[in-house]
Amino acid sequence: MARYIFITGGVVSSLGKGLASAALGALLQARGYTVRLRKLDPYLNVDPGTMSPFEHGEVFVTDDGAETDLDLGHYERFTGVAARKTDSVSSGRIYQNVLDKERRGDYLGKTIQVIPHVTNEIKEWIAIGDMEVDFMLCEIGGTVGDIEGLPFFEGIRQFGQERPRGQCIYMHLTLLPYLAASGELKTKPTQHSVKELRSIGIAPDVLVCRTEHPIPEKEIAKIALFCNVRPEAVIPAMDLKSIYEAPLAYHAVGLDQAVLDAFGISPAPRPDLRRWEAVVDAVHNPDGEVRIAIVGKYTQLEDAYKSIAEALTHGGIANRVKVRAEWLDSEIFEREDPAPYLENYDAILVPGGFGERGTEGMMRAAQFARERNVPYFGICLGMQMAVIEATRNLMGVKHAGSEEFDHEAGQKRFEPVVYHLKEWLEGNRTIKREIADDKGGTMRLGAYNAVLTEGSQIAQIYGTCAISERHRHRYEVDVTYREKLEKVGLKFSGMSPDGRLPEIVEIPGHPWFMGVQFHPELKSKPFEPHPLFADFVRAAVEQGRLV
Ligand code: GLN
Repeated sequence: MARYIFITGGVVSSLGKGLASAALGALLQARGYTVRLRKLDPYLNVDPGTMSPFEHGEVFVTDDGAETDLDLGHYERFTGVAARKTDSVSSGRIYQNVLDKERRGDYLGKTIQVIPHVTNEIKEWIAIGDMEVDFMLCEIGGTVGDIEGLPFFEGIRQFGQERPRGQCIYMHLTLLPYLAASGELKTKPTQHSVKELRSIGIAPDVLVCRTEHPIPEKEIAKIALFCNVRPEAVIPAMDLKSIYEAPLAYHAVGLDQAVLDAFGISPAPRPDLRRWEAVVDAVHNPDGEVRIAIVGKYTQLEDAYKSIAEALTHGGIANRVKVRAEWLDSEIFEREDPAPYLENYDAILVPGGFGERGTEGMMRAAQFARERNVPYFGICLGMQMAVIEATRNLMGVKHAGSEEFDHEAGQKRFEPVVYHLKEWLEGNRTIKREIADDKGGTMRLGAYNAVLTEGSQIAQIYGTCAISERHRHRYEVDVTYREKLEKVGLKFSGMSPDGRLPEIVEIPGHPWFMGVQFHPELKSKPFEPHPLFADFVRAAVEQGRLV
């Protein structure tokens, strides 16, 4: 059976719980253990798939087709363990399961209550895959005391109580605010947060204290005393320049040691941290810099494209350069000439997105990149826009567009080069969809295979002709345009195995012009940069040399 580490937060949100969990996972791996990380989110949405990227940041998609919280992206990037559907659950999903069981009559006439029915459902979820790993790390979203979070806190309390002694520990993250006027770090909010946690029956074993200043010894002792935690288990967590410093930084202040001590594992296996030393070395000592413009629609909130930002950093690691990614709102190019903006960059990336707003601007960015021989990377919507641009400007179909925009507008204006996909194959299974379907969980989601054309640039980059990448889209490039588009120079160099769905387009002879229907950014890791991002950044470096 796995040992469990429950990770909670207090005082304020956005403390970096996800990052601390991911870094701890990486440190346990470095000591030879297997891990799985899990996120329990208190909100009532069944999953984040329907939430606005402005509100909740990116939706992270797993191989098995779940739309999950972006923290799962951190988990994968730090541990390399592919997340599954069962690694992300919300209150909404838990309640939905309980209510489905109630309707089916599974509870045999009982009155359904938070305790035990909801908490049992939570505990069952937590224990999925129990026998597979040494450590299961479960992060609870939100902060202690949130109304929606209570069943989760109660669930993890019961879970620890029901397991043999020493099999579960609780790690709590708090903030030590700094008062500049008196030059002091204040511990009171942490004390209150732990008090809140203890009032619901959970005594933390490890306290991680986020702080902008080093914590003096006497403050550590005070926190330990007032929060009933051992002084060695009060872990200071200072701000870092790069998130990839987190494993080494947490190791240096004894986080993994404190966790293993709390389990009574002694002597603890020694860690091998070379993987992280190499990553940090590459991040800190780049040999140059490239500037990449990301022309998208959710540019006000950087978390909306979290995985893309990280994958570009990984591409930089692969080439030992610093990637300076700058976010440009594509709507600007609907009013203004893109050239003066885009001329300043070594490469252009157009990421995914939903809805028509800003898409004409994306097409103008794609056109600029195509005509000026600037490296272009179109991801999902960014690929669709590159195809529409080529159909309009190379094939001369002026009204080429996406059915997505007509559906949104409620009128037919475009010739649909990109159309609504109603039926496709997942393995041997046919999946069917209608326009009127629910919005949640109905896209083409998760890992699908693609077959690459031998000798194409994409096959060269991957070093193989068979790939699997993650998808999240409702619309698709229409394969009937293939022949005509190939004649004008846009090659369909990757297709679904049945040959019906275009997965990749490229322009031979262009320094780097690639559109992909999937999301390669989701599988990139700092210690294993995704080949497409590594090669895109390489092309940007070349471009930088030309200018
Ligand atoms: N909106 C487009 C579609 O549904 C693209 C989606 C995306 O970029 N993830 O097909």
